[in-house]
Amino acid sequence: MKALFFDGKMLSYLEDYHLSDVKPGWALVRVKLAGICRTDIEITRGYMSFKGVLGHEFVGIVEEASDPSLIGERVVSEINIPCGSCEVCRSGMERHCPNRKVLGIAGIDGCFAEFVLTPEGNLHKVPGNVEDEEAVFTEPLAACLEMTSQVHIKPEWTVYILGDGKLGLLASQVIRLLGCETVLIGKHPEKMRVAEALDIETTQHVNPPKKKADLVVECTGRPEGFILAKQLLKPTGILIAKSTYHSAASIDYSSIVVDEVSIVGSRCGPFQPALRLISQDLVNVKPLISGKYPLEKGLEAFSLAERGEAIKVLVEP
Ligand SMILES: [Zn+2]
Ligand SMILES: [Zn+2]
Repeated sequence: MKALFFDGKMLSYLEDYHLSDVKPGWALVRVKLAGICRTDIEITRGYMSFKGVLGHEFVGIVEEASDPSLIGERVVSEINIPCGSCEVCRSGMERHCPNRKVLGIAGIDGCFAEFVLTPEGNLHKVPGNVEDEEAVFTEPLAACLEMTSQVHIKPEWTVYILGDGKLGLLASQVIRLLGCETVLIGKHPEKMRVAEALDIETTQHVNPPKKKADLVVECTGRPEGFILAKQLLKPTGILIAKSTYHSAASIDYSSIVVDEVSIVGSRCGPFQPALRLISQDLVNVKPLISGKYPLEKGLEAFSLAERGEAIKVLVEP
């Protein structure tokens, strides 16, 4: 099959990539549309030391599955594949399984290909009124909803979202639903215009608000974002860290102690609520699309995605 393959050094487009057999309990999904994520770009720079087919955000049609009711369904897939038998899995924290594989990120091929293999239990059917161009945002939107499971975010709070990329634009829409005073702090004029069109209050990172926040959500994808996030926070405030970096972030550790700041790492979240928010038009994702490329032009898609002005670049096998 056709696939975008990363060999640990270079990303290439292959015409004849070997697709493995479908194991019992797994589904073969024909990929309709996939999204390039910041994580994919970080992987091409060395994050996770991954080798294989990249990509973890997609919508597709089930072609083969042990459960016949799944065949022909339009689905999205969760990305973590736990071992199911270790102590962490047995305690109900499968997403943190130390032996887990993650689609296109750790130990298993992802979705920048004609087909992807994923456990049936990871699939969610897409509501009929959700377009492919919307469904492809389910995984990152679910990741933003994880914040609301981790922190009791109060409607009286002032919340700053740092970073005007896809996560920042989705996180701002999620936080706003809670009634919080929500400000997106970014730097790219094109992305800030998208935020403003979504009626999200914005400000430039060089001119941050004077008022300190109860909660800062760090979505910049850059280690410097962490430093600014800390500066914008009230004493005893909460910093939700949503960025992964291929390099280490340096932290003023003592200031975290002195100001009694809580740092909450936040990764993957629940798919069904994300699909509901899209289906009910409570979160608007389509303005975030910066371009759509056929799989054959996947390398071009990646170079657009790497540029500062692009938000979400889609790849269509
Ligand atoms: Zn992602
Ligand atoms: Zn496990």
